[in-house]
Amino acid sequence: MPKGTEKDRWTRRGFLGVGSAALAAAGMLSAKGAAGQGQESAQKPKTDRSRSDPGPTNAALDAANPDSNNPLATDAGGVQTFKYPFSFAHKRLHQGGWSREVTVRELAVSKALAGVNMRLTAGGVRELHWHTAAEWAYMLYGTARITCIDSDGKSFVTDVKEGDLWYFPPGIPHSIQGLAPDGTEFLLVFDDGNFSEYETVLLSDWMAHTPRDVMAKNFGVSQGALEKMPRKELFIFQAEVPGPLAEDQRIAAGALGVSPIDFAFRTMQQPPTKRSKSGEVRVIDSSSFKVAANIAAAVVTLRPGGLRELHWHPNADEWQFYIGGKARMTVFATGGRARTMDFETGDVGYVLKALPHYIENTGNTELKFLEMFKSSYYQDLALSEWLTHTPPELVAAHLNLDKTTLDALPKTKPVIVPE
Ligand code: MN
Ligand code: MN
Repeated sequence: MPKGTEKDRWTRRGFLGVGSAALAAAGMLSAKGAAGQGQESAQKPKTDRSRSDPGPTNAALDAANPDSNNPLATDAGGVQTFKYPFSFAHKRLHQGGWSREVTVRELAVSKALAGVNMRLTAGGVRELHWHTAAEWAYMLYGTARITCIDSDGKSFVTDVKEGDLWYFPPGIPHSIQGLAPDGTEFLLVFDDGNFSEYETVLLSDWMAHTPRDVMAKNFGVSQGALEKMPRKELFIFQAEVPGPLAEDQRIAAGALGVSPIDFAFRTMQQPPTKRSKSGEVRVIDSSSFKVAANIAAAVVTLRPGGLRELHWHPNADEWQFYIGGKARMTVFATGGRARTMDFETGDVGYVLKALPHYIENTGNTELKFLEMFKSSYYQDLALSEWLTHTPPELVAAHLNLDKTTLDALPKTKPVIVPE
């Protein structure tokens, strides 16, 4: 079929420029289904304009969301929206940086986890604070200095760079500051969908709402010495770039000594958990990152055409952040319902606990994303490991597959395919 004909334009094949063979190879369609779709297209009269959209539309958003605009034949029924771009979130601007958040208020399905994207300039400070949710962070850009004290009051100060993580348990007071030359940008993930970065216990806010005479008595200083304290919260503010790390560590430790807990994790210093020719996955949970008691993660990289295999997570909802590239994900939501949505850099995705899904790199660049779980441990089960560890006659009786096909299924959970 020549490209650009009216018919080509309105068949799914032509619209996406993805052949049925490619979809079949990706496990989206059985060979029978692919052939069926072809026949269906061939039989359609030239006047079938069922998928056309002559009225007003947002062409840019339609083009960025082909699987919503022109659903796959396998999609069906109402599945709660599981995508929210950070680009839609309100950006709260300050001298020294900005922040924006995607919580259950923006993405209704995301009840278990919420995320914040934050930028701090060199010297810019996310002020000393804490909150009741646990905080897990991924460095997206630049360098930062983080500080906290542990539950014994012992100090922790370190510098982090792109790819590094940190974790602050609930109630542990902490700060983040951008370093030279250009500060930092990072992602925060909280184990509560209802979390708000704008409702945390801030040092300046607390002091502004404490009587000055009480504070003077508390510190054993004069009220006059407290006159210049801020009267409202700072949240993010511009300060000088801090001095050498070792000096900050030494002074903060004082007589108590440094905390024995490592609140940071150097992801790229660890080997990948699984690697194939189509990509790699790094799993980080409390088995390797000890302090991360309530949030587990995987950093996934897929080369073009790569597929994060059909799988599910028995233990927790999955919160995703797309660091780079283009993807599509289908979530099968039971009862004959399934939906495919498209993702790109800066998007948040969400999959409810135990619902089957896959993620496919649909772009021509590397796809990188985070999978986050409210759990001390990472857990997944793959379709292929289920089917290859169940009596084959039983599987064959369900799916009408011949022995050769069954024997060919991967037996060792490749995670990323093709292997
Ligand atoms: Mn925090
Ligand atoms: Mn998953």
